[in-house]
Amino acid sequence: MPATVISNVRVFDGAQLGAPTTVLLHDGLIGAGPAPRAAEHVDGRGGALLPGFIDTHAHIDDAAQLRAMAQWGVTTVLDMGAAHLDATMSLKDRPGLPTLKTAGRVASGPGSMFITKMGFPASTGVTGPGDAARFVADRVAERSDYLKIIVEDPKIPGSKPLPADTVAALVTAAHAAGLCTVAHVVSIDTLRTALTAGVDIVTHTPVAGTLDDSLRHRIAESDVAVIPTLAMMDGVVHTIGGRLPMRLLSLVVPGLRMRYHHAESVVAAFAAAGRAILVGTDANSNHDSPFQPPYGQSLHDELARLVAAGLTPAQALRGATSLAADTFALTDRGTISPGSRADVVLIDGDPTRDIAATRAIRGVWIAGDRVRPEGTNR
Ligand SMILES: [Zn+2]
Repeated sequence: MPATVISNVRVFDGAQLGAPTTVLLHDGLIGAGPAPRAAEHVDGRGGALLPGFIDTHAHIDDAAQLRAMAQWGVTTVLDMGAAHLDATMSLKDRPGLPTLKTAGRVASGPGSMFITKMGFPASTGVTGPGDAARFVADRVAERSDYLKIIVEDPKIPGSKPLPADTVAALVTAAHAAGLCTVAHVVSIDTLRTALTAGVDIVTHTPVAGTLDDSLRHRIAESDVAVIPTLAMMDGVVHTIGGRLPMRLLSLVVPGLRMRYHHAESVVAAFAAAGRAILVGTDANSNHDSPFQPPYGQSLHDELARLVAAGLTPAQALRGATSLAADTFALTDRGTISPGSRADVVLIDGDPTRDIAATRAIRGVWIAGDRVRPEGTNR
């Protein structure tokens, strides 16, 4: 693979853009020292070089979805639940595609809609605390990188929630196996259940109801990170929230009335507590899901929504780069420093001033291989 030299480029260091400099991509890594003679030269004048983006919440079942991610600068994708496990697993470790990490099959209550409607096998129903170690061992055997737990709200009609003690047992079993835990939470009460169980990361943000002081306190005391998926939550408000049964139900149970600004206020609470806020799109192709954020493109939508919710542009960018890598222990990426993976995005303008600049992509490299423009050096 030829080396690449990107010159006159301002590098995002996690807080700001530095003075124009030269970055070497060599042997798949960010290099140090002089460039080899055969290096390809790219003039980065007027541009910013960022670590490749990490989408911390997506659902991947074919290579085209990963290629779309790459075109939008996403070089690492964390799958958060694969109904078609073999198809998803076959996309791991493919040169020229984003790195794919996987949750494998997700934990839910026996008979949940993830099993009855979304294609997960009956064995992914966890029958009680005593079944937690078996479930985690199954995920380890299928080479899952972390554990995803669905925490459902008993107030939602048709839900089959895992009891709180089963959620806690899953967290304990996952930690014993060296896996971190990601909990799907949909409401204030499920957020509380997940925090009580000691999960490492929560994903989604409640759109009905507001945080009380005890929950704010608990967020401040914990070390929990959040993947808000704001684009998805807006989709949920417009699809599920607009359906007649839900509108009628929310008349009877006012706490169920859905508002997008509730999700933004949860993001603000996590930010005020100093917790890590990660960028995840929930891009998916499941037509039983309330909304299908487009692969790759929606990462830029999510960045803009996080800024609209009160994050600084640099904070939002960290949530798609260094903070995402730290939270998921992806120690070889997330920053542009010698020895880290040569996953980089070259854009026009200054995204620390205007987050919309992330969409103006000039080039994307995965492990030093230029993938945008498509087919450049392959
Ligand atoms: Zn999802």
